[in-house]
Amino acid sequence: MKNFTVERSLSIVQHAFDGMLVIDSDKRIILMNKAGMRMFGLHQCDMNGLYLNALIPVRYHVQHDIKVKAFSESDEISRNMQQKKSIAAYGVRKNGDEFPLEVSISQLSIDGKIEMLAIIRDVSVRTQEMEKLLEAATQDELTGLPNKRKFNEELSKAIIRANRYNQPMSMILTDLDNFKRINDKNGHNEGDIVLMRIAKLLQENVRKSDFLCRWGGEEFIILLPNTNLDSALLLAEKLRLAISSRIFFCDENNYTITASFGVTQLDNSKEDSSSFFKRVDSKLYEAKDAGRNCIKF
Ligand code: GH3
Ligand code: MG
Ligand code: MG
Repeated sequence: MKNFTVERSLSIVQHAFDGMLVIDSDKRIILMNKAGMRMFGLHQCDMNGLYLNALIPVRYHVQHDIKVKAFSESDEISRNMQQKKSIAAYGVRKNGDEFPLEVSISQLSIDGKIEMLAIIRDVSVRTQEMEKLLEAATQDELTGLPNKRKFNEELSKAIIRANRYNQPMSMILTDLDNFKRINDKNGHNEGDIVLMRIAKLLQENVRKSDFLCRWGGEEFIILLPNTNLDSALLLAEKLRLAISSRIFFCDENNYTITASFGVTQLDNSKEDSSSFFKRVDSKLYEAKDAGRNCIKF
């Protein structure tokens, strides 16, 4: 430690890759290194009398105070602020832009007074990459619609909301009729084109508040919040007609296609997502058994 001079300590802080800042017990910033200033878009002239809250979006101020207080009352010397969530903190740059941060904090005792050191890292790029991955994991590649995984997430949340506000909710499950014939006759590629067009057609015919997904192969599912069975049946009939009346042109071929539909309304407060889905699935089977191109409810 003999060679660990004040000059060397300052140099380490100033040239560290991560941002570093120290606050006093009033949360005034008394030191900030170069990386920290760059991150927040600050210059030396901005530092005079700058308080920590200026670097945190206002909506997090209370939450942040609680966390810092809990830490200062603990026996810990340092703590990673992301212990429970992957991203727990946001910063705000001088120009008002918000960005996600990773933060660790440490308590320092300087001349008998407690100060706090925060080491911060801008994780914007990593967060954007994570969001892209997350989106890819919940999106169907061919049609761009949300996939089954996303639907199941939404369904559970929507059931909770419907029960909390005592609102009706319905579901439509549709499966294209004899779709295999298109693939068999003119190849998988043509089948893909028709599937994309049907996805678009369905999307154009549902409301923004409805949740349309590609359930699997040539099956689509639509969750209809705040919608009773009668309204859901009207929509199913509209979709059935929209599909059956359309001619899908692909290169030199053209196709007409029909779809079968199952429709059910949630039995509020009694039903979970799996029984709600089982009922709509069995109605779809009934529609297939009844000769296809029809709706069962
Ligand atoms: P049904 O009226 O009984 O539903 O007959 P179907 O031919 O539609 O049903 P089946 O379950 O026998 O076959 C579904 C077909 O959908 C078979 C499969 O090749 C096709 N399919 C599923 N996913 C895709 C896809 O992503 N692209 C293409 N081109 N075809 C697909
Ligand atoms: Mg089918
Ligand atoms: Mg099918």
